[in-house]
Amino acid sequence: EQKKGCIVIPDDYCGYDLEHFCIPGHYASDVKHVMIPKGLILDRTEKLAQDICRDLQAPLVALCVLKGGYQFFTDLLDFIKNYNASAARSFQMQVDFIRLKSYVDDKSSGEIKVIGGDSMENLRGKNVLICEDIIDTGATMTKLLELMKKFEPANVKVASLFVKRTPLSVGYRPDYTGFEIPNEFVVGYALDYNEYFRDLNHVCVINEHGQKKYAT
Ligand code: 5GP
Repeated sequence: EQKKGCIVIPDDYCGYDLEHFCIPGHYASDVKHVMIPKGLILDRTEKLAQDICRDLQAPLVALCVLKGGYQFFTDLLDFIKNYNASAARSFQMQVDFIRLKSYVDDKSSGEIKVIGGDSMENLRGKNVLICEDIIDTGATMTKLLELMKKFEPANVKVASLFVKRTPLSVGYRPDYTGFEIPNEFVVGYALDYNEYFRDLNHVCVINEHGQKKYAT
């Protein structure tokens, strides 16, 4: 099955000047520019919801990968619910929330563990839609999908708001992608840097000052 394309943000793109958007004062000196305003994210998410509704069917479990995925998940599900309330064909949905904990040992094999959420047994025989904020190397998602196989879901699809262009990619591409972005560290719209910036509406590129200020 062919995976759909997405909006591609080129490497030489310099986004929008901060002064043209409402940026909380506490982050004004910590980001370079707005890469993607929240309004555009919502417009793109509406289309992803339409694509998803045309492809998927019940019994569906929408699975949010916390914490970074929460804003995308709620906005995507709002669009899906609206679609279901008005379209000729509707499908029932359950929702669940998981967090992924990574263990990087000395050999940096990087195992992951799923924490929180209902028992993964609940996914057996269901159609699962995983909602993630960003795919960077793709290692995390590849491991999550591998782990999920044990529970024999009928079908698993992945929606990720962002995919980063990185030479370190393992080659994984989600089924539904909002935007392909340059190899820069982005924050806002629930994406964090050491737990900061989740309370920023627009997706911005962090600057050196911000990285120093919020370093662990
Ligand atoms: P991967 O396993 O694909 O390399 O990494 C995926 C995870 O790394 C994402 O779920 C996210 O938590 C984190 N990550 C990667 N790039 C970024 C970024 O630009 N901004 C933020 N906030 N998190 C990122």
